[in-house]
Formats: sequence, structure tokens, C-alpha cells
Amino acid sequence: MHQLKDKDLFRQVGLIDGTWVKASSSKTIDVIDPASQTTIGTVPDMGQAETRAAIDAAAKAFKSWKKKTHAERAALLERWHALMIENLEDLALLLTLEQGKPLDEARVEIRYGASFVKWFAEEARRIGGHTIPSPTADRRIVVLKEAVGVCAIVTPWNFPNAMITRKVAPALAAGCTVVIKPSEFTPLSALALGVLAERAGIPRGVINIVTGMPAEIGNEMMANETVRKISFTGSTRVGSLLMRGAADSVKRLSLELGGNAPFIVFDDADLDLAVEGAIASKFRNGGQTCVCANRILVQAGVYDAFAEKLGARVNAMRVGPGVEAGIDIGPMINAAAIEKIDRHVEDAVAKGATISARGRSLDGKQYATPIVLTGATTDMLLATEETFGPVAPLFRFETEEEAIEIANGTPFGLAAYFYTESLKRSWRVGEALEFGMVGLNTGAISTEVAPFGGVKQSGLGREGAQAGIEEYLEMKSFHIGGL
Ligand code: NAD
Repeated sequence: MHQLKDKDLFRQVGLIDGTWVKASSSKTIDVIDPASQTTIGTVPDMGQAETRAAIDAAAKAFKSWKKKTHAERAALLERWHALMIENLEDLALLLTLEQGKPLDEARVEIRYGASFVKWFAEEARRIGGHTIPSPTADRRIVVLKEAVGVCAIVTPWNFPNAMITRKVAPALAAGCTVVIKPSEFTPLSALALGVLAERAGIPRGVINIVTGMPAEIGNEMMANETVRKISFTGSTRVGSLLMRGAADSVKRLSLELGGNAPFIVFDDADLDLAVEGAIASKFRNGGQTCVCANRILVQAGVYDAFAEKLGARVNAMRVGPGVEAGIDIGPMINAAAIEKIDRHVEDAVAKGATISARGRSLDGKQYATPIVLTGATTDMLLATEETFGPVAPLFRFETEEEAIEIANGTPFGLAAYFYTESLKRSWRVGEALEFGMVGLNTGAISTEVAPFGGVKQSGLGREGAQAGIEEYLEMKSFHIGGL
């Protein structure tokens, strides 16, 4: 196995109240490298008792953490950020080993993940309240911003580093403490972040990490009244389950859920730019991203030309282990992912689609070959569900109205993209798309400086930007009388 420079970052125990611990049952779960399908490590299979202990530790730590000055919290986050950058190579390698994405993409993710820590260290200093003119002369009214409290952080496997920092950095900056439950597929990246947080001097109990299978940990997080907020990124199915579970104790919620992004190419688009955007948006992380183009809608006048240009790029793509140089697409996360991709492609072909381009495939159970499917139609499974794989289906449309109708014809509303050189169309379509994020002439919309999140069944709340910290702050109106 590839070795980390700093072996201490390969942590195989959970973090509760500043102590690195095994499960009380001593049970473990295996962490599998999706490329070789071999076990690269184990982590504790924790359950209710450990989750409760972690929540209690976070509650204890909250008492002093919320009282630190914003500058003190910012300084600790700045140090955590610096350590992430210093250890970028190790963090990226660990990420590739447990998640599969090509090493270059893993490096990009670590930088992206670190960017949230830096951004929210800066935002910590800008948490202000405001004053309200009083209706009577003898009173004053101020609005204070206060930390929400203990937050449960539940994250997916597709971005094992960045999905954690995008939540934990604003939580800590606001004065909250956290219990993290990383995906059971990618817990090692989370634990390495815990090691670096400890080295940065973030006090014990402020960050707790419980690993294991989700149901028992999740049930305790939902039922425990000490948890004041759940921040979740993952599927809409689990998001709505957490929403129901959070209802009894009326917890705050942030939900970053599934998408079904349309990527629209109009006749007046710059086709080369559109192909570039489609490659980035569709094939990054092997198509396993929530904002990745799921339905590529191409206007009839440029359909064939776009299919040819995109096909030429896809034909040249290389599939293989993410640690090897020159790999475009790593392994898929698990057998279920491959099964879903196969099911979508078989269904599309049975309903009349054609595989018009195919990258260089690799024998191996967990590899999916990047393909372009022409002749895709809205009755196919891949039009209604996230394929979460390197499959680019091209739908043909005639008019702008038709494209908007197809694009919005989904219960999801996370990201959408469109390509046009017309100024008028840019505004018309940009405003007509019912999505939380829209890319015009770009396939890249993820940055710490802009609000990230969806509408409809893609979620609640926003991460990143100035909005991201508000998710972890309560407003208190403070009325001062008798003046
Ligand atoms: P998932 O919903 O299966 O799992 C996400 C997390 O929830 C994991 O940590 C999992 O262990 C946990 N979980 C599962 N059941 C639970 C339960 N009963 N109680 C508590 N926790 C539970 O999603 P996934 O397969 O890991 O990730 C892929 C999904 O995430 C896709 O739908 C993708 O679109 C979405 N996603 C969304 C965003 C976004 O920002 N909107 C970002 C990345 C991924």
C-alpha cells in the first residue's frame, strides 16, 4: 500500500472528548480501497452509547468554546487550515485510497475543503448583531447572534474531506461544538482531520468523531435533546428520514441532498466551451457528485456537432486506480453504484438510446466505463434519477421553452447549467431555472465564497459564503428598559 509521510494521520479509532477510542463492543468495520477492493484499515463500529458520550462531551465543551472570543476561535481555525495545507499530500492520498478519485482531484478537494476553514475563520470575526430603533424613549433593542449549540454533522462518501469542513468550520466559527458521523465508506479522511484539529489546539470535546454503521448513531443523534441542529449532506431519502426524526425535539436542520442537474446547450453556445464545461461537470469524481450534469439537453441545430466533440473527449478518457498517473476516472465507490449505472444504461439502450462514445475501460468489478449516450429521452430512468456515474446522456430539444420545461421537470433543484452567447437568453433562462445554483457558460459552481445549496427536494439552507455561518447562529432580541 502507498505510505503516508505522516503515519499518525492514518487513525483507526474514533474521537470522543479528546480521547481516541475503540467501540465499547470492540467491533470494527473494514475500510475498503475501491480500486483494489482490499481492506486498507478498520474503524470502530460505534453505536448509541458512544454517540451519547460524544454528544455529552460536545455539550460540556460548548460551555467554554462559545465564550471564547471570535478572534480566539478564528486563530485556531487558521492553524487547522495551515495544517491541512501542510499535510495536503497525505490527506489527498488517504482520500484517494478510501474513496477512489484520481489523486489530482483529491488534491483539489483538500484545497477546497481547507478553503472553508480559512473562509469561516475570517467570517468568525464578522459575526455581528444589529440595533433596532426603539418604539419608546426609555428602551433600547439589540439583536445578538449566538451559537446554536451541539450540532450533529452527517456526511457522504463522495467528498470525504470537504463535506466535513464545509459544515464544521462555520459551526466552530459560530461557537458551536460538533459530533461528526462520516460515511462508513470513507471514515479515515474524517479521522485525519480530527488529528489535525487536535494538533491545531482545538480544545477537547469541540470536535468528536463517531464511526460505524449509520442507523444506531443516527437514531441517537435524532432523539437526543442536547443536539440542537443536524447538518446533513447525502441522499434525499436519508435527509427526509432525519427531518422526520428531528421533529420531536424541534432541531434546526441544514440539508444538502440529491440533485438531477440539467446541462443545456443552446444553438448559439460556444460549443468548445460547452464541451469543456460538460467534461468538468459530468465526469469529475467519475460522475459521483451531487451537482454533476445528469441530463445534457442539446438544441437540435448543434446536437450532432456537440455529440461528436464530446465523444472525442470521452473516447480518450482513461479509467483506472486513482493513485496512477494520467487517470481520468477512478473506481466507483461500491458494487451498488456499478449496478445502478448498468441498470440506467441498459434501460436507456432498451428504450432507444445509442452508446456513441466510450472511454478506455478496465477490467475490474468496480470500474465504470465513461460513455456518451445519444438519443436519450425523458422516459428513461437516467432522466429521473441521479445516475452517479460517468454516463453522459444527450437529450435533443427544439425550443427554449421546451428546454426549460424539461430542465425544471424534476422534484430536485440543486444545480443547473446552460450555455448561450445571447445576453437576453442568459437572463431569461437564468431566471426561469428552478435551482439553487445556476452556471452560465461554466461547469464550475463550487467555491467557498458563494452560497451552495438547493431548492425543492434538494434541501434546506446554504453552505459556504456569508450565509453558511448563519446556519449555526440563533438570533436573540435583547430589550433593555427603564432607561
Ligand atoms: P447517503 O444518504 O446514503 O449517506 C449520507 C450519510 O448519511 C452517510 O454518512 C450515511 O452513513 C448516513 N446515513 C445513512 N442512513 C442514515 C440514518 N438512518 N441515520 C443517520 N445517518 C444515516 O448518501 P451517500 O450515498 O453517502 O451520498 C450520495 C448522495 O449524497 C447523493 O444523493 C448526492 O447527490 C448527495 N450529495 C449531496 C450534496 C449536496 O451538497 N447537496 C453533496 C454531496 C453528495
